[in-house]
Amino acid sequence: MAEHGVAPVPENYALWYRYASGQTPDLNQALDERVSDGLPIDPAAVDELRERYLNDAKLTAVTLDTGEKLNSELNQIIEIIESSSGNSTAFGHSVREASAGLSAKSTPTDVRNAVKSILEASRNMEARSQELEERLKATSSEVTELQQTLEAARSEARTDALTGVANRKAFDETLSREISQARESGQPLCLLIGDIDHFKKFNDTFGHRTGDQVLRLVASCLNNGTRQSDMVARYGGEEFGVVLPSTTTEEAEQIANKIREAVQSRELVKRSTGESLGRVTMSLGVGSFRPSDESASLIERADACLYEAKRNGRNQVRSELSAPAGAPAGTPARAPATARAMAG
Ligand code: GH3
Ligand code: MG
Ligand code: MG
Repeated sequence: MAEHGVAPVPENYALWYRYASGQTPDLNQALDERVSDGLPIDPAAVDELRERYLNDAKLTAVTLDTGEKLNSELNQIIEIIESSSGNSTAFGHSVREASAGLSAKSTPTDVRNAVKSILEASRNMEARSQELEERLKATSSEVTELQQTLEAARSEARTDALTGVANRKAFDETLSREISQARESGQPLCLLIGDIDHFKKFNDTFGHRTGDQVLRLVASCLNNGTRQSDMVARYGGEEFGVVLPSTTTEEAEQIANKIREAVQSRELVKRSTGESLGRVTMSLGVGSFRPSDESASLIERADACLYEAKRNGRNQVRSELSAPAGAPAGTPARAPATARAMAG
């Protein structure tokens, strides 16, 4: 941690502890790769690693705990059902016993006694049933609560804590699901990748906290500019991904441009002082699904378009339809696969 200038705070210790324990090989690989690629282990990178690899562990812990509790509730329910069936058997038995002694020769007293014991048995039965019903009610509300706990943990594990949009893990899942669906249905599918322009400079000038506010604002522009069926996710530090099912490239370009305009139209004001911080802009790349695509190839093409948008001056949208600068219109943009490394 000292070597990479990582702040010595509990949540970072938790991540480093996990790394040292080797319990999460994917985390170790991701961190090792960052170091060997010479990428900074800055707060944004640490947040991302924690979000990706520790949240999962939290979900597992909640799932195990909830599972155990559900198991105990289930055992109680079985017990209640068993008692209830035992209760009916006992009742049947009492009724049979009381009526067995009756015949044509029974005296009124015999009949009165039989009725009395049947009444008593049914009163007992009623009291027992009521008690069991109450226990069943308590158990079922306990189960509902456990389900809610599980659901909340599941949704937290899929949400980016800073911006409230989906995180990378949820994005990966949704994208690969939508790709399978598009392949099956033959419907179009587009992917936007947006990246804030010169964000490093913004952070350096106004501070990381103000930068974080901008990330929230950009996330809200993305949410406002998309439909319920689309998925907005924080893809990386200051990069966002939007999965657009049933959307043609032209429609996706329009959506991307609306988002771009919304971002540039927001004047940023520092809350504490009212000081104007100017505006930020965003560049977006649009990738269009092809039947041969897997997530990685679609992301790569969206990324290549984003790189074109950056290269052409930023604050613009590039899709696989828009020709790269200098190429004749209609020629698909083809940026090198290493474009991202060069852009960084
Ligand atoms: P470009 O227009 O080429 O995208 O330039 P850029 O400065 O935006 O790109 P670069 O990749 O050089 O820098 C990205 C910056 O985003 C680095 C870091 O300061 C900032 N950043 C990444 N994640 C976070 C975060 O969670 N919060 C804040 N405040 N800043 C972040
Ligand atoms: Mg970036
Ligand atoms: Mg950027």
